[in-house]
Amino acid sequence: MNAPVRAESCGIDLARERGQRAVFCGLTGIVWLHRKIQDAFFLVVGSRTCAHLIQSAAGVMIFAEPRFATAILDERDLAGLADAEDELDRVVERLVARRPDIKLLFLVGSCPSEVIKLDLTRAALRLSRRLAPVRVLSYSGSGIETTFTEGEDACLAALVPDLPEAPAGETGLLVAGALGDVVEDQFARLFADLGIPVRFLPGRSAGTMPGIAPGQPFLLAQPFLAGTARALEGRGLHHLPAPFPLGAEGTTGWLRAAADAFGVDPARFEAATAPGRRRAATALASHRERLTGRRVFFFPDSQLEVPLARFLWAELGAEIVEVGTPYLHRGHLAHEIAGLPPGTRVVEGQSLDDQMDRARAARPDLTVCGLGLANPLEAEGLATKWSIELLFTPVQGYEQAGDLAELFARPLRRRGRLEV
Ligand code: SF4
Repeated sequence: MNAPVRAESCGIDLARERGQRAVFCGLTGIVWLHRKIQDAFFLVVGSRTCAHLIQSAAGVMIFAEPRFATAILDERDLAGLADAEDELDRVVERLVARRPDIKLLFLVGSCPSEVIKLDLTRAALRLSRRLAPVRVLSYSGSGIETTFTEGEDACLAALVPDLPEAPAGETGLLVAGALGDVVEDQFARLFADLGIPVRFLPGRSAGTMPGIAPGQPFLLAQPFLAGTARALEGRGLHHLPAPFPLGAEGTTGWLRAAADAFGVDPARFEAATAPGRRRAATALASHRERLTGRRVFFFPDSQLEVPLARFLWAELGAEIVEVGTPYLHRGHLAHEIAGLPPGTRVVEGQSLDDQMDRARAARPDLTVCGLGLANPLEAEGLATKWSIELLFTPVQGYEQAGDLAELFARPLRRRGRLEV
């Protein structure tokens, strides 16, 4: 569609493309965020399409009271014939009256709410005053020119202005990014072994959101949190540059960035991390045979592509054909970019047809892509991995390094069986 624009960057072959895209919208993040913040409710202000997306992404919960829903804008709202603001207030008030377990309510904007310019920031302020002590915040999950992990970024960024100021001398490290509870518990133990006080954003409930203070360092646990990082920096915190905790090497580099910032003794660092590194090395060894030399192609989808390519190449010996990524934050990804093999082709943005042509021509052993592309590519004989699975599965840290490798090894094994 349009020729890639070449740019020189850190030894990689970086190109930018614009054209047709195939990605989910930011509403998808609700699926893992509602599990993480256990007394939060996510009210999408959108259309029936938005409701269908959320229901099919999350699975239909029949017996549980779900903690997400869609306030559906109908034709009268879209035509400006009804007062959507009044109607929204009524819906939220009814919801909060019926569900006293809700302590934090997110109004989540969508394409339709943005088209009719429904001001959810103002609505959240108005409803917060009216419904106190329930907090009402808003963010956009709209699909226009976005990708699905941006929903988490927008949600966490919306939380930052609301975080309490921590008392002087009581701040430690802040880790930003929703992690599976099991992963968070493992990291909390590792930071305790290193002697580093740590809090996690988001907290597991509205009442356990971390206090923060100017000068406090923070680590990103996910590579797609540019807006959250900006909001934290706006409150005077400073980002610790680090790789992301994917695989043994990524986890060690990530922990080391914190250890260096807090002046942890190298012997203590070694003692705290050696058992995890050993277990991760053993777990990875069992997948190396299946993945070494395998050619992997990433379509842009989750924004995890660059760290995953580094992991597959550096820790499992895979060959990287192309790394597509919706956005490339060169600051946050500097360590990961430096960890890629020299000359790796990294494509920021997407021109779907061009990228499909390149994938077909390259015939990679494994293609990591969104749900919408996986079926056609499988039908053409290519093994695929859904990138969204990497968000639904706990994959960070030493104890999950083997599971992360297994996610990539499984489709190769399945395709191997099909071909026998
Ligand atoms: S892309 Fe827009 S209309 Fe479609 S589900 Fe997402 S927010 Fe709703």
